[in-house]
Amino acid sequence: MEINVGGKSLAAGRVFCIGRNYAAHAKELKNDIPDEPVIFCKPPTALVSHLQREIPFPSFGSVLHHEVEIVVLIGKAGKPESETDALNYIAGLTAGLDLTMRDVQDDLRKQGLSWEKSKAFDCSAPLGEFLPFTPDRHLDDLRFSCAVNGGIRQSGNTGNMLFPIPRLMVEISRYWKLLPGDLIFTGTPEGVGPLLRGDCIEIAFNGNKWAWTIS
Ligand code: ZN
Repeated sequence: MEINVGGKSLAAGRVFCIGRNYAAHAKELKNDIPDEPVIFCKPPTALVSHLQREIPFPSFGSVLHHEVEIVVLIGKAGKPESETDALNYIAGLTAGLDLTMRDVQDDLRKQGLSWEKSKAFDCSAPLGEFLPFTPDRHLDDLRFSCAVNGGIRQSGNTGNMLFPIPRLMVEISRYWKLLPGDLIFTGTPEGVGPLLRGDCIEIAFNGNKWAWTIS
């Protein structure tokens, strides 16, 4: 998928996701607060453009949950030297959905297995349109939300993150050198809940809204 930001086009790279980055969400799923960021990946086939209208309900499992998150687009290759330096690697920001088959995830967790089947399936990562990042932007006060059929379900502020965005970037780059086009889904606040076929899910960030129908 090509990603446009500030008049430039980047090929989407890897999709990194952070689990349990908001204390109230970790609590609602009865998870412990992690000592360091929980990182998992989705393949590029998980991405869904904001230009697409529909998200298919998966053909396995039964409980599809929305998780609205701030998504960071990486614009430069390398490993940030510090949290301040991490800001130089950000090309854009938007909101996205880390769609999760919660019943499948609960089964996998009970068995101590990895989460891929429940989180990394096709079309599990819809994305809004990226807003170019400028260093004067306060990463610790980004508001974002999602609504289902017009009713607000989740409302988040990055100020409530356990690990702020620059810290996540430094942590990810310990294991994976950052590359232009990489995406980071930064974790979801509380309020996750089910989506049914026919529902319209709308996500909002910075005065913009993007919506899809579950088909
Ligand atoms: Zn998530």
